[in-house]
Amino acid sequence: MKTIVYKIGDTEASVWLSEAEKILKEGGLVAIPTETVYGLAANALDEGAAARIYEAKGRPSDNPLIVHIADMDMIGELVSELPDTARRLAEHFWPGPLTMILPKSEKVPYGTTGGLDTVAIRMPSHPAARKLIHETRIPLAAPSANTSGRPSPTRAEHVFDDLNGKIEMILDDGPVGIGIESTIIDLSGETPMLLRPGYITREMLSEVIGSVEVDPAILEVNKDKDFRPKAPGMKYKHYAPKGSLLLVSGDADKVVEKICLLSDEKRKEGFKVGIIATDETKDLYRCDSDCIVMSIGTRSDEDTISHNLFDILRRMDKAEADYIYSESFGEGIRGDAIMNRLLKAAGYQQIFV
Ligand code: AMP
Ligand code: MG
Repeated sequence: MKTIVYKIGDTEASVWLSEAEKILKEGGLVAIPTETVYGLAANALDEGAAARIYEAKGRPSDNPLIVHIADMDMIGELVSELPDTARRLAEHFWPGPLTMILPKSEKVPYGTTGGLDTVAIRMPSHPAARKLIHETRIPLAAPSANTSGRPSPTRAEHVFDDLNGKIEMILDDGPVGIGIESTIIDLSGETPMLLRPGYITREMLSEVIGSVEVDPAILEVNKDKDFRPKAPGMKYKHYAPKGSLLLVSGDADKVVEKICLLSDEKRKEGFKVGIIATDETKDLYRCDSDCIVMSIGTRSDEDTISHNLFDILRRMDKAEADYIYSESFGEGIRGDAIMNRLLKAAGYQQIFV
């Protein structure tokens, strides 16, 4: 299959819109920019189209898809119930990087919800995504547009690298803004529960709807100071770079010292080492041949870190790093969201110094 790429800024909106609409109506796949990461979109009400998403991504079929809408008129046919908490959160945070889990209507196929009686819904704020959904009136199932298990795509090139030849179209609008996937809150049970941390924090949600519980699976922190081996199997490994990633946490000076030590060891063994540093620390690493230091952003603005996170993991792959050592970023208000991704990418390999 030939994958067509349209640069949104260089193409008349009427052209990419009508071509994307045609593809979606025929059950095809269009990768779209959103404010969080690029999404792989298909008609959420067409079970066959949803099946193609799973096939293109190599995604396990029990992992449900998020359905994207453009306005509140579109939510009625998707849910069997709209609790007051959902209305209030929608008023505050939509359009934006928040996904709500709600009881599904009969119209939403199980092929979209991974067999569940609930459906995940989000109203993105990205102008191109909104325009496409608004004009076509098609609710779009759109998980991240990467091969399952690889780092999420924050640039159209990432989508191209993973899915060229497997999908009909990519709409390229440059790098996304936020860089990590939406916050997910489950409103289908008695108490609202945070299932995935993101740009919208638990505190921000609590300010609107009161108490929000947190799924304990979100952040597995290793409290031991000793090395924690990789979780067995690939079950817990997402976003993974090809090299082996280890997070080093603790006092800044000690972290730099430990990473230097570990990377020296591996380089002596003949491996290529990658170091994920920050603007503040990147010049502190002794690194010449067989070692590459990349800054993920600045600690004075943690949004730069989430913005660059997945891109840096992919750049480490391009640099063919065998072993990757990263500083940790748990301190800020979005520390949970950042560490959730990094820990998964590392298969929970983390040491404390
Ligand atoms: P992605 O779009 O690739 O970021 O993945 C969508 C995420 O939403 C996955 O982690 C899913 O498990 C989660 N999700 C989607 N629908 C539901 C649902 N009905 N209940 C719980 N989690 C969901
Ligand atoms: Mg994903």
